[in-house]
Amino acid sequence: MFDVQSIRSDFPILSTSINGLPLAYLDNAATSQKPKSVIDAVSNYYQSENANIHRAVFKLSEAATARYEATRASVAQFISAQRTEEIIFTKGVTESINLIAHGFAQAILKPGDEILISGMEHHANIVPWQIACERTGSVLKVIPVLDDGSLDMEAYESLLSEKTKIVSIVHISNSLGTINPLSELIDRAHTQGVPVLVDAAQSLPHAPIDVSALDCDFFVFSGHKLFAPTGVGVLYGKEAWLERLPPYQSGGDMIEKVDFQGTTFKGIPGKFEAGTPNIAGVIGLSEAIRYLGRIDFSEASVYENSLLTRATEALNSIEGLRIIGTASNKASILSFVCEGLHAHDIGTFLDAGGIAVRTGHHCTMPLMKRFGLAATTRASFAFYNTVEEVDRLADSLRKMKSFFQ
Ligand code: PMP
Repeated sequence: MFDVQSIRSDFPILSTSINGLPLAYLDNAATSQKPKSVIDAVSNYYQSENANIHRAVFKLSEAATARYEATRASVAQFISAQRTEEIIFTKGVTESINLIAHGFAQAILKPGDEILISGMEHHANIVPWQIACERTGSVLKVIPVLDDGSLDMEAYESLLSEKTKIVSIVHISNSLGTINPLSELIDRAHTQGVPVLVDAAQSLPHAPIDVSALDCDFFVFSGHKLFAPTGVGVLYGKEAWLERLPPYQSGGDMIEKVDFQGTTFKGIPGKFEAGTPNIAGVIGLSEAIRYLGRIDFSEASVYENSLLTRATEALNSIEGLRIIGTASNKASILSFVCEGLHAHDIGTFLDAGGIAVRTGHHCTMPLMKRFGLAATTRASFAFYNTVEEVDRLADSLRKMKSFFQ
């Protein structure tokens, strides 16, 4: 049996009070909380191990370099990448997608080429491609979203063509919770020879993923949603693709030789990691992965799904409340609107009861427009949330309804 109380004791912030009430943290899709082991790893690094990496022969620097590079290997193992060099450290999903979009604009895209994304993308997987299109004369194409919040797979088939140069797609929608059929999307693109980038910002916190089995070409995630610190993320890319793309940023650490006549770059992964990286963040990420290795992640996913089922049933039973995103395959993200009430008012009411949810467009303005909405209220669960917290959410929403009517 999954022991949620024991898990909760690993996360210090979960015993915080808000307005004199126990915090119910239901904003995990925005960022997750951190276990004490991660907080300690970052703190210990600064207390007794801090040194810059890659450029010195003294012991502290060698140790920091070894931990940084060992994390690359543990990330590769965590997502089942074939090679450690296929792991690039970035600031997060936003920087990872910018890196790829920039590389495609510079090395691959030509006027009239097409980039295929979906109607449920986060702005981080829209804007970098729009800029790439402006730079190259390429065209952005969008797979429509159906009324239940799933992808229109028939439209996907017809949008894929010999003009498509990349499919860049979210695995789990941060606004709706929809889990997209990745294998099908990737297989279909590959039959046309088109590479696929997976925005996995919302995926890894919910279930383990094997990038080699999926056969995606790029896979990006942010540490802070995966119980690690902010400011660190990962870009996985197949070796052949990473070799083909030019550097994104340039400067120290990414070079082999600099001369005023010209510069040669390191091979992968070094050529994509210019400047001093977020060493403490990478060490924190390594500890978060170690933490996930200690818990039963598959059991945690099953438990989390049971929270989603309970919350969906409870919210469906409240009159005037409508869940946005009812696809059959969903992760533990619940967006809803309530007749006559603005999302921000709902969020403020819930906060008064110690319940933290997100309100707004969730950086998916085109998706909100698709559903004729300006904003939703979103509750998103992690494996440390409890049935009591789900029930408190539903009770508070019922109270709110009677209060405002
Ligand atoms: N894509 C998705 C689906 C997300 O949920 C997020 C974070 N809300 C991002 C991209 C951007 O991630 P980050 O801000 O960590 O770069």
